[in-house]
Amino acid sequence: MPTKSQMLFDNARRLMPGGVNSPVRAFRSVGADPIFMASGKGASMTDVDAKSYIDYVLSWGPLILGHAHPEVVEALTRATETGTSFGACTPREVEMAERIVEAYPSIERVRLVNSGTEATLSALRVARAATGRDKILKFEGCYHGHGDSLLVKAGSGVATLGLPDSPGVPQALAQLTITVPFNDLTALEETFRVHRNELAAVIVEPVVGNMGCVVPRLGFLQKLRTLTQEQGTVLIFDEVMTGFRVAYGGAQQLYKIDPDMTTLGKVIGGGLPVGAYGGKARLMDLVAPAGPVYQAGTLSGNPLAVAAGLKTLEILRRPGIYERLNSLTEKLTNGLAAEAARQGVGLTVNRVGSMFTAFLTPDAVTDYASAKKADTSAYGLFFRFLLEMGIYFPPSQYEAAFMSTAHSEGDVAATIQSASLAFAGLRP
Ligand SMILES: *Cc1c(COP(=O)(O)O)cnc(C)c1O
Repeated sequence: MPTKSQMLFDNARRLMPGGVNSPVRAFRSVGADPIFMASGKGASMTDVDAKSYIDYVLSWGPLILGHAHPEVVEALTRATETGTSFGACTPREVEMAERIVEAYPSIERVRLVNSGTEATLSALRVARAATGRDKILKFEGCYHGHGDSLLVKAGSGVATLGLPDSPGVPQALAQLTITVPFNDLTALEETFRVHRNELAAVIVEPVVGNMGCVVPRLGFLQKLRTLTQEQGTVLIFDEVMTGFRVAYGGAQQLYKIDPDMTTLGKVIGGGLPVGAYGGKARLMDLVAPAGPVYQAGTLSGNPLAVAAGLKTLEILRRPGIYERLNSLTEKLTNGLAAEAARQGVGLTVNRVGSMFTAFLTPDAVTDYASAKKADTSAYGLFFRFLLEMGIYFPPSQYEAAFMSTAHSEGDVAATIQSASLAFAGLRP
């Protein structure tokens, strides 16, 4: 008897490319068929065959409070009853802007959009307009959404599927995107020397999530700030994943860097589609109608998305939230590392706050090349074993895992115990 998930996937494959609306959901790199979800509550979700999972994907990061947080649901319900969209100004958008500007001192003005992809594309357009330059620099294995200029040596699903750079991106455009290994200060300095005063922007995930979690080396982000400042290049921190995640004020608060522009998404939508880009007033005032750089959106600042996001941020400001979340995540990652060591399995765990990746390699993972040394077929086994045990890890070695405030000590203990059994099965 096929499961309901299998039957749905058979049908989906006929109707949608690869049967999915976003590539990594297809579970291809972990050698499994996708599971269809029916509901979620707190730290867990339940599939259409009534099997439950402790969720460490959390919709790829947005659900920092877990699934269907009662206060978020209430805020959403109330917002729904008063109209789902106006395409006109609403008070809550101003409140959201206020919350973002308060939390991110580098952001003086902000524009809400509908996805992280839109946010990074728009930020790039502003940077190019402000500098009158076309070239941009990004880092290998970083993912900034699926915009043409940014699908060059990209992470996330592109890394998961081992795709070369995407067909359909005009060569003329891709040539303007220069890539450098993350954490490589020498390559960075060399690139700034070769392309002296030619770079419109550097865009970076200050803590990378999209080749798995990779931590910036001491001084790397600072060097980036210095070089961009010297050459009038716009420094864009893509905090779509890290914003309100690694700290309320994002990676820029954690590492004390003042970028020119910042992109946000994920957590600020509380599980609904949202993105935002913002930065120094001199840059953001180039955006229409204040300035000539065009960017617009039918549903931008959507009342439901903003209501869910505002409530999420309100809860995140309560005392002790990040302390508990981070220490529980640390407990989990320490436990995973200890069990792997006990079983003689080479594992490298990278973590910042409540985002982490367990790489199946004994060697340090500091960039895309070292991330690619992970044993992805062992990761597939690890993933499938945990899935069977009711634990949902990212269906790719190259995606970060997350914890939510809804996870409990019991969830962590159960996860470590199951992981230990999984590691036993991987023992060389
Ligand atoms: C998820 C992500 C994006 C893209 O956001 P979408 O909402 O999926 O378009 C961009 N940048 C980073 C760092 C991300 O993690």
